[in-house]
Amino acid sequence: MRRTIPILMYHQVDVPPPSGTPMRGMVVSPGAFARQMRVLRLLGYRGVSLRDLEPWLRGERNDRVVGISFDDGYRNNLEHALPVLRANGFTATCYAVSNAFGGANDWDAAHGVPQKPLMQASEFRQWLDAGMDVGAHSRHHSDLTTLDAARARDEIAGSKRELESALQTEVRHFCYPYGRFDASHRALAAEAGYVTATTVQRGRARPGDDLLALPRVLVAQSNHLGHFIAKIATGYEDRYR
Ligand SMILES: [Zn+2]
Repeated sequence: MRRTIPILMYHQVDVPPPSGTPMRGMVVSPGAFARQMRVLRLLGYRGVSLRDLEPWLRGERNDRVVGISFDDGYRNNLEHALPVLRANGFTATCYAVSNAFGGANDWDAAHGVPQKPLMQASEFRQWLDAGMDVGAHSRHHSDLTTLDAARARDEIAGSKRELESALQTEVRHFCYPYGRFDASHRALAAEAGYVTATTVQRGRARPGDDLLALPRVLVAQSNHLGHFIAKIATGYEDRYR
């Protein structure tokens, strides 16, 4: 039997802001993140970046694995997640907004989401040098479905070029901002040469899935450890597929 391939979706790993703060659920505390990674390791899962996940997605490996991804490129991923990943022997992909190095999540500002610093190029280099992977998350965190074809191509292909040039690494993986895309954006991701593209569609990926429209498992601030395990090891998330 083919195993499922849960791809975890995180955003920030930091002390959560006060209750009532918009998008607070997207901030997982460092302690919770450490417990989640530890329990994965104790259950026999390998936690890997999208780059390292490729053999499982192609059906060449079938042992226990979980993909780990972080959207947007927050500096707190470097501060709080990287040491935990390394301590467990895991890798992860951070999806960077190529025109926002050293900036903040200003695309969220209108919704009252607290502004948090994004990694600079030198910090992404530290992330890469530790064996982690960087994927692309467009140039400006644009909702692709609001753009004409030329601008959508610039966001999708342009972010790959910008990241590869700034970080001197091959960028093989894409993540649709806000999870918003249609068949034309999928085609543009293929044209740009991405191996995978992830979405916010809920569910665990499976070998044979469309690699340019992969579902993920959202890990939220409110998920206690039992819930986290159920999302990975049971069909809990798959009913949304
Ligand atoms: Zn994002």
